[in-house]
Amino acid sequence: MIVMKFGGASLADAETIKNTVSIIESRMNRQPVVVVSAFGKTTDLLTSILESVSAKEPESARKTAEEIGNYHLNIIGDLIVGESLRTRAQEIISDNVSRLRRLIDGMEYLEEVSPRTRDSVLATGEMLSAPLFSLILNSRDIDVCFVDPCEIIRTDTDHGRANPCMDAISVNCRDKIIPELTSGKIPVTGGFLGSTPDGAFTTLGRGGSDLTASLVARGISADLIEFWKDVDGILTADPGIVPDAEPVSHISFQEAGELAFLGAKVLHPSSIQPAVEKGIPVRVLNFHKPSSPGTLISDELTGTDPHEQAVSSVACKRNQLMVNVYSTRMLGARGFLRTVFEVFDRLALSVDHIATSEVNVTVTLAPTHRVKELETELSEVAKVRVEDGVGVVSVVGRNLPHTPGVAGPIFNALSDVNIKLVTYGGSGVNLSIVVADDEVEKAVKSLHTALICKSRGEDA
Ligand code: ASP
Repeated sequence: MIVMKFGGASLADAETIKNTVSIIESRMNRQPVVVVSAFGKTTDLLTSILESVSAKEPESARKTAEEIGNYHLNIIGDLIVGESLRTRAQEIISDNVSRLRRLIDGMEYLEEVSPRTRDSVLATGEMLSAPLFSLILNSRDIDVCFVDPCEIIRTDTDHGRANPCMDAISVNCRDKIIPELTSGKIPVTGGFLGSTPDGAFTTLGRGGSDLTASLVARGISADLIEFWKDVDGILTADPGIVPDAEPVSHISFQEAGELAFLGAKVLHPSSIQPAVEKGIPVRVLNFHKPSSPGTLISDELTGTDPHEQAVSSVACKRNQLMVNVYSTRMLGARGFLRTVFEVFDRLALSVDHIATSEVNVTVTLAPTHRVKELETELSEVAKVRVEDGVGVVSVVGRNLPHTPGVAGPIFNALSDVNIKLVTYGGSGVNLSIVVADDEVEKAVKSLHTALICKSRGEDA
């Protein structure tokens, strides 16, 4: 059993959808379960409906709802053959557009866009794409069944970024997906959506269909998840900075998790967590090049095989904040770090990297509108300096602290770069440096040349 997840870009028009269908056809003997996102940029259009209503422009919201309907009618026009399938598809589209109109009327009347209503609106993308895509497969004589994601993905009531209830989801997968697979059907479901115990729509956060795929894979104990994207896999660096970046052929779960956290944009940071828990391997593949191997993410790599490359990728994040907290009260004292971190906790700010000295603690974090509050609160216990516009460049690999000779090439490559902070050794898979934003490109390029191109045997 495998789970195949397709994002909006692979379902944007008749041509990309035909390509996606043929990718699924090539995997029929592997008992696939298909998870789809909303077609094309539908979720962006739904977001703009919410913005229009909030800006008291309901007519513009209604126009966008019509646009969504026409876009879907256009897509099925080319792809669904047979009178009854076509009628069913038209009904699905008109029901969803009517529902959208009623939601717009309701929001306009109440002058309110509540988180719960927001989720109801955003749900429309996958409420359309999953049943329509099932009909498209049907009309190719593929034996599919549409599985309503709301009947599978049970969540809490945290609208907009709901938390999945793992046990309920496993039971639902066992009861509603496994029997379909056993009877030889291909279950097709929508990503991103869930429902609360009392039946309200929830969503898992933008890009949440990846998480749905992992939850389903966990629920059915799949052998593999395939994420079909518009890139070749997880790359050795951001191709915007390093044009000859290549896909990494195989990395560990831990590296993939850190890479997502450290700035690589391929996978939603927490999206593969349910798969990691069950040790289910993940492959990131390119729907433009279905025969390319992509990147395999699995637990099999240990870092102890001398043939495995120690460094797999160079990631970066720009526009971060660095907060330096200095106090002589730290000298030999205890409890000071707790006082400092309580401030971050109170302001609900998540710290990324930390370095300490005898009288100083420096952290990095994502930009926040609460920076003034942070500065004020920290100033009550210490001297504070906040620097914005810094970048974090990270070398990610396996078992770095146990691989002799890694640090030399890293720091040689950075000989021209002004390093503000270094963190290393915590997870064993990354060494991160903080530099000024305008030095990020130079640092990434030099590290990529020294660590990745050299080990590929290319001239530096
Ligand atoms: N359709 C949703 C979005 O665009 C979820 C997803 O595609 O993963 O964010």
